[in-house]
Amino acid sequence: MNIREASSQGVVCGLRQIHKGQKVVDGAGVRINRVIGSSRLSYIDPFVLLDEIRSDDPKDYIAGFPTHPHRGIETITYMKRGSFRHRDSRGGGGILTDGSVQWMTAGRGILHSEMPEKTEGELWGYQLWLSLPAKDKMVEPRYQHLTPEMIPVIKGKGMTVKVISGFFQGMHGPAENWLEANYFDIELEKGSVFSFTIDRQMNSFVYVHTGTVSICPTWFTATVSEKELVEFQQGTLIEVMGVSSASAFLFLSACPNNEPIARGGPFVMNTEEEIEQAVLDYHNGLIG
Ligand code: FE
Repeated sequence: MNIREASSQGVVCGLRQIHKGQKVVDGAGVRINRVIGSSRLSYIDPFVLLDEIRSDDPKDYIAGFPTHPHRGIETITYMKRGSFRHRDSRGGGGILTDGSVQWMTAGRGILHSEMPEKTEGELWGYQLWLSLPAKDKMVEPRYQHLTPEMIPVIKGKGMTVKVISGFFQGMHGPAENWLEANYFDIELEKGSVFSFTIDRQMNSFVYVHTGTVSICPTWFTATVSEKELVEFQQGTLIEVMGVSSASAFLFLSACPNNEPIARGGPFVMNTEEEIEQAVLDYHNGLIG
């Protein structure tokens, strides 16, 4: 493992590892850059999946994700550009347009479809899965549709921060989540620095989606570019500086569940028996 760490006056900016995504095809034939949840990077507890869909070729996304089940997780879709329609078995639904977020708690089980609403032009979005802790795996499903107007945007010092979930500079994101998690989308001008202290044993990472940034620039420079994920050590100071004329990245942090993880396609549980039960429940029509 590539562990680098530097400290000054007791404050640590600790980079753990840099990861690259893996190209996969999922749903009915959607081309995805799988950043978390692949054979390269299985998970960063409690983040068990991060998919990037980004293409201006409709063949890459038009097939969408027809009806399928989920159990044991929250699925969070953040649409940067384009439009997706969501429908679920509990009557939840809506059209995700530029800048909107769908925060779905699958809990004990839900069926849903996620289909593109456009047939041409760019589609750019992210789907994140948060693994629910064992005690909450079977909670009631819930759906939250967050419009861009609901998401606070903090501007200053060459930095723009969208707070989808969690706290930043006194602003609270609109998502009501089972698992406490910070989810920000951050834009930096060249030379501007995003700084955030993780004061507990949280896992955190940055996924660069635009341009180039410098990680922990006060101590040393790890230059990271588009499509790279930076995993930090727990309980650390996060520092990211814009290097290119414009750069932008997702920032995520959450407390780990520290529990065994068993995966079976759209189900994420703690044991193989629970995955088998989820598959059985799905085939017996007991999900959704
Ligand atoms: Fe889904």
